Amino acid sequence: MDESDFYGRLVLVRHSQIPALPDGAMTIPAIKDGICQRCATKINTTWRTPTSTYCWACANLGRLSDDQFLATIPEPNVFETDAMPCQWQGELTPAQRRVADEQVQALKAGRSHLTYAVTGAGKTEMLFPMLTAALQAGKRIALVSPRVDVIVELAPRLREAFKTDFVVLYGDSPETYRYTQLVLASTHQLLRFRAAFDVIVVDEVDAFPYAENVQLEGAVQRATKPQGCHFYLTATPSARLLRDVSKQRLRISLLPRRYHGQPLPNFTIIKIGNWRKKLSWRIQRILREYVISKQ
Ligand SMILES: [Zn+2]
Repeated sequence: MDESDFYGRLVLVRHSQIPALPDGAMTIPAIKDGICQRCATKINTTWRTPTSTYCWACANLGRLSDDQFLATIPEPNVFETDAMPCQWQGELTPAQRRVADEQVQALKAGRSHLTYAVTGAGKTEMLFPMLTAALQAGKRIALVSPRVDVIVELAPRLREAFKTDFVVLYGDSPETYRYTQLVLASTHQLLRFRAAFDVIVVDEVDAFPYAENVQLEGAVQRATKPQGCHFYLTATPSARLLRDVSKQRLRISLLPRRYHGQPLPNFTIIKIGNWRKKLSWRIQRILREYVISKQ
């Protein structure tokens, strides 16, 4: 294996492989004090083979057992940075530009940030200025989503918009891992990383299976460097994310408009009783105004 395969990663090795690891590689037991060191799950006593105990919870990333080790080399951020990584020719609307600027400010302040934007607001394009600034600053970035279809759909758009090379990782991904500054992955794949990223963008943060999933939330935290920050994107923020905003743990940008600049319709609920018997004067007025406005 190449030395760079270990940068900010948790690579599963057997005891006999440890002497052949690259210089600077550190190893920890894969299961320590009954806790899986890859996904932090407490090992159930029934997760056993005749010879060892294993972690069932993250077995779909390759079975990890108590006679194995996890090897890592601290993330060194050694990649060539491009002065102008973004080649996107499009233009942001003033509302999108405001959100993009707020994301760049959050990046510069090292603060985590929530973008609460309606579906169709163009949140991918809004990310481009922040991604560009992070790439130029030599930061390592992961763009992840709990939804694999989002990742598959994002990959060609990012390839078109950025010159920066990136690897695409998800369960059935045809790509094998290689060390890149930018990583596009399903949230689940972050379990293979440790303190690797300066910036993690979580798209569709309130989608299944990420929402309220302790294993995946932990994966995002552990894959982030101690000074790193997160950018959450959603059209339906959970109560918990909004609580983090109110406690000022998260900055927020709101975008209630779609890319064409039209606000979403506002609904007002009026209780009108039995309208077949007697039509409320409020409804009569609304209908009259509607008819007049159409003349
Ligand atoms: Zn595990």
